[in-house]
Amino acid sequence: FGPTAEEVCDSEDVSTTSAGLETLFSKFAPFLERLKPHYEKPDKSKIIAHFAGCRAATYKEDFIIEPSKKVKGLVHVAGIQSPGLASAPAIAERVKDIVIQEWHPAENTDFEPVRKRSKRFSEIDPRERAELIRMNPLYGHIVCRCEHASEGEIVDALHRGIPAKSIDAIKRRTRAGMGRCQGGFCMPRVLEIISREANIEKELVTKSGGESFILSGRLKQVK
Ligand SMILES: Cc1cc2nc3c(=O)[nH]c(=O)nc-3n(C[C@H](O)[C@H](O)[C@H](O)COP(=O)(O)OP(=O)(O)OC[C@H]3O[C@@H](n4cnc5c(N)ncnc54)[C@H](O)[C@@H]3O)c2cc1C
Repeated sequence: FGPTAEEVCDSEDVSTTSAGLETLFSKFAPFLERLKPHYEKPDKSKIIAHFAGCRAATYKEDFIIEPSKKVKGLVHVAGIQSPGLASAPAIAERVKDIVIQEWHPAENTDFEPVRKRSKRFSEIDPRERAELIRMNPLYGHIVCRCEHASEGEIVDALHRGIPAKSIDAIKRRTRAGMGRCQGGFCMPRVLEIISREANIEKELVTKSGGESFILSGRLKQVK
C-alpha cells in the first residue's frame, strides 16, 4: 500500500501518522477485496512492516543530471524522485554520454557489464537444491525460516566482489529478514555469521553501516 506522497518541508522528515496510515488503508484495501478468493479480507493486523522515506524533490520537479562546473570527472545526479528507480537504466546512459562528451576517457575493454546473480535457494527445484547442498552443505542450513534463505547464500553475499557487510545489506541480497517475522528469529544468526565471516566482534556488526550497532555489550558487563 502507499505511499501517502505528502509534501513535507524538512528533507529529513520521515515521520508517519496514524491518520496517514488510515488514509492509505482505506484507499488501497478495496484493491485487495478484488483479489478474492486469493486474498482474505484486508486486515490491518496482517501488515508486517511500515516504511517511510523522503523523495529527493527539486523545485524544478525534474531530475538534475549534469557535469560539475567545479570538479573534473564529477557528474551530479540529484533530485531523483519517482520514478527514479524505473529511470535508473536511462539515467546511467545519460551519465555515460556526459562522461564521454566532457572528458573523452579511453574505453575500458575489460569491463564486464553483466553480474551473475547468486542462486536463491527458495527459487530452485528440489533436485538443484540437493546438488547445491552436496557441493556446499551450508546451503542445507536454513537461517531465515520465513524467506527460506540459507547460510550458503549469506556467506556468498559476504564474500562477493562487492560484499554485503551489514544486516540490511544481507537482507537486500538474500531476503533474510524480509518475511513475516521481519528478522525476529534470524537476525541474531545473521549477525553471528557476519561476525564469523568478516572476523569482527559481534558488537561491531551494524544494521546499515556507520554506528548503527545492534549490540551494545555483554549483559554480564552491564553495571
Ligand atoms: C515512498 C517512495 C516510493 C517510491 N516509489 C517509486 C516507484 O514506484 N518507482 C520508481 O521508479 N521510483 C520510486 N521512488 C523513487 C526512488 O526510490 C528514488 O528515485 C531512487 O531510490 C533514487 O535513487 P538515488 O540513488 O538517487 O538515491 P537513494 O536511493 O536515496 O540513494 C542515496 C544513498 O546515499 C546514501 N547517503 C545519503 N547521504 C549520505 C552521506 N552523507 N554519506 C554517505 N551516503 C549517504 C543513502 O543512505 C542512500 O543509500 C519512490 C521513493 C519513495 C520515497
